[in-house]
Amino acid sequence: MVVLGIESTAHTASVGIVAEGTEILGLASDTYLPTAGGIHPREAANHHVEVFPDLIRRALAEAKVRPREIEAIAFAQGPGLGPCLRAGATVARVLSLAWDRPLVPVNHCVAHVEIARALSGLDDAMLLYASGGNTQVIAHGSGRYRVLGETLDIGIGNFLDKLWIALGGKFPGGPAIESLAREGTELLSLPYLVHGMDVAFSGLYTAALALDRAGADRADLAYSVECTAYSMLTEITERALAHRHRRDVVLGGGVACNERLRRMVQEMAEDRGGRSFAPPKRLCVDNGIMIAWTGLLAFREGMTTTVERSGVEPRQRTDLVRVPWR
Ligand code: AMP
Ligand code: MG
Repeated sequence: MVVLGIESTAHTASVGIVAEGTEILGLASDTYLPTAGGIHPREAANHHVEVFPDLIRRALAEAKVRPREIEAIAFAQGPGLGPCLRAGATVARVLSLAWDRPLVPVNHCVAHVEIARALSGLDDAMLLYASGGNTQVIAHGSGRYRVLGETLDIGIGNFLDKLWIALGGKFPGGPAIESLAREGTELLSLPYLVHGMDVAFSGLYTAALALDRAGADRADLAYSVECTAYSMLTEITERALAHRHRRDVVLGGGVACNERLRRMVQEMAEDRGGRSFAPPKRLCVDNGIMIAWTGLLAFREGMTTTVERSGVEPRQRTDLVRVPWR
């Protein structure tokens, strides 16, 4: 079975094609980069509308499949930015009608879990999902994916991006802070905001800017921001593992590209006798493959929808979605 997946929840438009056994046949992505400031939803959606035709052609060419070999069209229904989601859903409906294939709605967060689970073989792992807009610790329980802990304000990636832009840099901030942090040596004191299973980043943002104004070394600041924020994420992941009597962790989301975060989570998991796995970077960030793969799992369970009922759900919660394949 071959499924095509459409991702467009935020700044990345992506088309992926997969076959049974998580065989990755084709992937084409294009990310909208704001000229200044953060992501503007309508501009990002316009970008997606423009690039999708070419992405579809490229993904099909790489996969060497013809439209009639594709059995279903999966698309990210939510959560995400309304205009961006609608751009992707419209493309999915057009393909569904043109090729006469069923539409399969997919939850974006569940897709991050499923692709990491499939590639790692860690069947019952905890997911640390750290992206621009989302920061959640997710585990399976009683037929659904449950959010055990999450950010109480902004996503970790948005925090890094906002901070970097306030310091005079350009989006995306995460990778820029990562390279600067490699030269940092001194750990500056910053607020550590863990509340039970949850985290918060606003106070860290304010304190980091205050340190910068007070003349802190930028490399030390970047290093300290990374150590503090990633320790917070590692701590709530460890607490979730302990409560749920699990050992293994998988990572997802753009911030999971970060080497320091990967190392910290790996050390924590290994200390507990478990393992940690992060997908290759092109599958950590938002991508059409994870949507296609989760769509394939859902399609096998008959979870299709119609064009009329395929409305997007910008606030769709992870735990609202049924996962009968587990
Ligand atoms: P996503 O929302 O999953 O598409 O990921 C985008 C976010 O990941 C942005 O906030 C980036 O700043 C962040 N990001 C990407 N690469 C890295 C990295 N190496 N370290 C930290 N954050 C990163
Ligand atoms: Mg994502």
